[in-house]
Amino acid sequence: MKKPVICVAGSANMDLVTTVQRMPMAGETIHGNAFQTYFGGKGANQAVMAAKLGGEVWMIAKIGEDTFGKDYMKNFTACGLNTSCVYTTKEASTGIAAITVQENGQNAIIVVGGANLSFSEEEIEKAAAAIGKADVLVCQNEINLNATLRFLQIARMYGVPTIFNPAPAEDFPDEIYRLCDYFCPNESEAAHIVGFPVKTIEDVKRAGKDFLSRGVKNVIITLGSKGSLLMSEGKTVLVETEKVTAVDTTGAGDAFIGTVAYFIASGIPVEEAMKKASHAAALSVQKRGAQKSFPNYAECGF
Ligand code: ATP
Repeated sequence: MKKPVICVAGSANMDLVTTVQRMPMAGETIHGNAFQTYFGGKGANQAVMAAKLGGEVWMIAKIGEDTFGKDYMKNFTACGLNTSCVYTTKEASTGIAAITVQENGQNAIIVVGGANLSFSEEEIEKAAAAIGKADVLVCQNEINLNATLRFLQIARMYGVPTIFNPAPAEDFPDEIYRLCDYFCPNESEAAHIVGFPVKTIEDVKRAGKDFLSRGVKNVIITLGSKGSLLMSEGKTVLVETEKVTAVDTTGAGDAFIGTVAYFIASGIPVEEAMKKASHAAALSVQKRGAQKSFPNYAECGF
């Protein structure tokens, strides 16, 4: 059977995680308890999830010509991603997220987009051939928005279905919505965009209708341990997730979207894809970390 081809145009960040007893105050130096680095960035996470399931995954990303960039390129290769559209630059650092976690679990995060935000016109157009050959294109909002918009336009031109995860949320240009076959925010991203709280299932449906009225074909709103809701013209389906004991929900959304992308690319109905994505994400929240918590096809038992 032909492998589904998934093209992911998005971010690659190195997550730099320090654990501390308490946050330092301005001007203060304190001893931290531990430090670890993880491969992160929503784009790379979603791509790695799709690859772990066995997809042929083309990563469109941009990293710095620095140590983190070199390490990330090795990670992409080790995860089996096609890196012909991973660009490098001397002008900006590889994207990082400096994450400080207090013992009580509270965290403070500084993200420096760096190279992620520096896709040039030439690099964007160079990726068109890869997008044209894909069964699905997946984008998020952690690279320059003009690049995301263009990638979505290219996919539409070739008739390639698009999945857009509007994270972090902002007021997107109208055209973005019309280019989305699947628009996939979580509750807080949905609330940010529609401008009202998205807490109850009625709120979720109201937000879904709002997105449909903007020209999105299908809306998938993820609801954490409550599951996910699919809305398209004349159809609303709540997909429940499994009851599990979560130890770390970091990257649950990325595991979900990477899996939905893999199965949509495989040609199975979206509700089925969402059920399988819920299962993969429910497995991932039972382990620490993002990429390293993602299950492969066999571990999912599909
Ligand atoms: P994150 O930002 O932590 O990566 P997110 O906010 O983007 O996640 P969520 O809505 O929290 O995304 O989770 C995505 C999907 O993962 C949910 O729709 C659900 O199917 C599954 N999921 C998340 N948390 C849990 C949980 N505690 N138990 C079971 N399934 C979960």
